[in-house]
Amino acid sequence: MIQVSNLNKEFGKLQVLKNIDINISQGEVVVIIGPSGSGKSTFLRCLNLLEEPTDGEIVFEGISITDKTNNINKQRQKMGMVFQQFNLFPHMTVMENITLSPMKLKKMEKKEAEKGALTLLKRIGLEDKAFVYPNQLSGGQKQRIAIARALAMSPDMMLFDEPTSALDPEMVGEVLQVMRELVAEGMTMVVVTHEMGFAKEVGSRVIFMDEGRIVEEGCPKEVFTHPKHPRTKDFLGKVL
Ligand code: ADP
Ligand code: MG
Repeated sequence: MIQVSNLNKEFGKLQVLKNIDINISQGEVVVIIGPSGSGKSTFLRCLNLLEEPTDGEIVFEGISITDKTNNINKQRQKMGMVFQQFNLFPHMTVMENITLSPMKLKKMEKKEAEKGALTLLKRIGLEDKAFVYPNQLSGGQKQRIAIARALAMSPDMMLFDEPTSALDPEMVGEVLQVMRELVAEGMTMVVVTHEMGFAKEVGSRVIFMDEGRIVEEGCPKEVFTHPKHPRTKDFLGKVL
């Protein structure tokens, strides 16, 4: 589904991503772990060109999105993204938040977009919140709405950047449950997270990043129980 080769990203003199190579297949759940500042968010943001790579190529569904002649908008619609800070539009109701992109970018009729939004809200158990504003929601509810908003575009792939890191502990479970259901439906996902239990449970692959490089990768069981690289051992020793 996505092929990344020789990806480099520099912010001025700071080299944040160094020769990242990775292929992600349809249906895979790739979990990215690593210390703060290791480049996890930058990597995720490069995948849909929210950050422009300094060097390297990204091919998504057969199209080279780093090719300067390509218009990213079409592929970006196929990559849903969920952020740590929810990023819901505060002046819009939940319904307006969810229907905005399908109406604007897909030219969907309002009725159809609202029908789709209600189906998504039912799925996450929040249909009674359709006409409230984000400030009337708990953090966990906001994040479930943010996931529903991304799903409203029918993406082929979902990118999650620490989706539970800003939540009170008692709300982490409800968000992970929505993500678990997505995994069960076969969604292709790239998830940056510190939820190691979740990573072990649903990850098809774990990537450990440090100082802008992929230091180690493998199936969760192997990486978590027999990390090979000293940096991975050190990191896991601190977080597990
Ligand atoms: P992580 O998500 O693993 O914590 P980030 O990708 O956010 O790491 O950041 C990696 C490095 O890049 C950090 O040193 C950070 O300060 C730097 N960085 C991230 N975004 C920018 C930016 N827009 N401008 C300059 N430096 C940045
Ligand atoms: Mg980050």
